[in-house]
Amino acid sequence: MADGLVFNIQRFSIHDGPGIRTTVFLKGCGLRCFWCHNPESLSTLPQVQFFPQKCIGCGKCVEVCPKKAHAIDANGRREFRRELCRHCGRCVDVCYAEALVMTGKHMTVSEVMDEVMKDKLFYDNSGGGVTYSGGEPLLQREFIKELLVESKKNGLNTAVDTAGNVPWEAFEQVLPYVDLFLYDIKVMDPDKHRYATGVNNRQLLVNLQHLASCKANIWIRIPVIPGVNDNVPEMRAIADFVECLSGVEVVELLPFHRLGEGKYESLGMEYKARGYNSPSDEKMQELAEVFEQKNLPVKRG
Ligand code: SF4
Ligand code: SF4
Repeated sequence: MADGLVFNIQRFSIHDGPGIRTTVFLKGCGLRCFWCHNPESLSTLPQVQFFPQKCIGCGKCVEVCPKKAHAIDANGRREFRRELCRHCGRCVDVCYAEALVMTGKHMTVSEVMDEVMKDKLFYDNSGGGVTYSGGEPLLQREFIKELLVESKKNGLNTAVDTAGNVPWEAFEQVLPYVDLFLYDIKVMDPDKHRYATGVNNRQLLVNLQHLASCKANIWIRIPVIPGVNDNVPEMRAIADFVECLSGVEVVELLPFHRLGEGKYESLGMEYKARGYNSPSDEKMQELAEVFEQKNLPVKRG
């Protein structure tokens, strides 16, 4: 059986599809949305997060690192040269202050299923199930297919949360095992999309049209990002596209937030959405009305 790289398994999730769900987050993403609140999802490798405020300067990490990535100078100043790190995990194991945390763990399909099945009763009572998210879960193609096959064998409702920027074959191979796709749309204008996410939106829009023509159940998810799509013309362009698709059950508008900011620092990454504010309630309502006017069922996250 395949194994894959998982960075989180979140039980009792109520925002990733219907009912109570377990959301399994797979590592790796081809997009670089500058506001991403899961920066630990982007890399396809495990990563060490460093939280300097928790460090007690014990020096254990310095002793065990075979790559000399950690250092403490004569003044007690701490240095972590993460470019040297080969993610062996030794420093994480000896850091009792939990200033070092490994994000990303290789798991087998049966290990993931053991976790997921713990809450089967809650899924059955709430109409929930399991959601595979990321990053972009369809990048780990063999792994997600096997996870979905096992999920269906275990009688679970399945959802896949995707940005769609993968070859169509990645959808084709999971299609029979997915009850619901949560499909992100950011912005329709290709140049703006490239600026905001680092990639062109052609492939993901074509895949979405194709998915709809296959009679898949789809929830559209739109993160509302200041300066990118928080205006009526942009939302109207998305609504025009969505109203031509069959199988769209809900359009969800998800307001930008800065909850992921601290994670960027812990990973040594630049946070490019610093200073951005969440859209107001009035703004979210104004944007929701664009979809209501077209009789598209819209939900605000
Ligand atoms: S092991 Fe942890 S607490 Fe000790 S110096 Fe290293 S990072 Fe700091
Ligand atoms: S994970 Fe291994 S290589 Fe990376 S910093 Fe820690 S001990 Fe060094």
